[in-house]
Amino acid sequence: MIASLPCSLVELVFPPRCIACGTWRHDGADPLCSECREAINRECAVPTCPTCAAPVSPYEVSLGRCGQCRGRSLRIAGTVRVGIYRDLLGQLLRAYKYHGREELAHLLGGWLAEAIETAPWRDRIEAVVSVPTHWKRRFNRPFHAADALASYVARKESLPHVSILRRVRAGPRQIGLSDTERAANVRGAFAIRKGVVLRDARVLLIDDVRTTGATLEECAKVLRRGGAEEVYAAVVLRVGSAHSKSKILSAI
Ligand SMILES: [Zn+2]
Ligand SMILES: [Zn+2]
Repeated sequence: MIASLPCSLVELVFPPRCIACGTWRHDGADPLCSECREAINRECAVPTCPTCAAPVSPYEVSLGRCGQCRGRSLRIAGTVRVGIYRDLLGQLLRAYKYHGREELAHLLGGWLAEAIETAPWRDRIEAVVSVPTHWKRRFNRPFHAADALASYVARKESLPHVSILRRVRAGPRQIGLSDTERAANVRGAFAIRKGVVLRDARVLLIDDVRTTGATLEECAKVLRRGGAEEVYAAVVLRVGSAHSKSKILSAI
């Protein structure tokens, strides 16, 4: 009987729950309740460095590079992110990545696609590539967050999602490592798949979180060596410098 009722009437009797906090929400069009929507908007509305997506002042946005990016030779030409690693966005990403909430790929992937649409380099992108994980980790966890997000973004943006990178060395997870240790931990960890020729391709790298950027930079180094002309990056969350060490340690 319920199946035959008009959708609006079903929602009146059984209002849908907010995808983030689970409370009954009243606007059927938005998967978030008004409180969660406001919280997400606040967490996303932070000016960020166009190069590394770190939270910065509006003045640094106009410069194109934050103080940490200036003077450095970076292989990632530009980065966009959905938000800064804060309470609700962090909760959503953890639920998606670790607690089997795969349906959140539509929400997070949709926001990621919206962020990419705002990038000045959007029209230069020719292919989407996800940051790979080692097969041992894939074996333990069949669901791969960055891969699923890259697939969603590629479909939404009508771009090919190409599996050209592989992780050849597992190494310990980056959580809890210093900046130097993080860079050393991923050095030589990635390779281009055999037989792939990039020939001046302009590539968008997708990952769920960027902290120091060591992983993305190492992937970009390999892609550039393989022939990529330009490499850009898009992440769901940027762990910002304003966070305490404990929050960074609890980040993904
Ligand atoms: Zn909510
Ligand atoms: Zn920067």
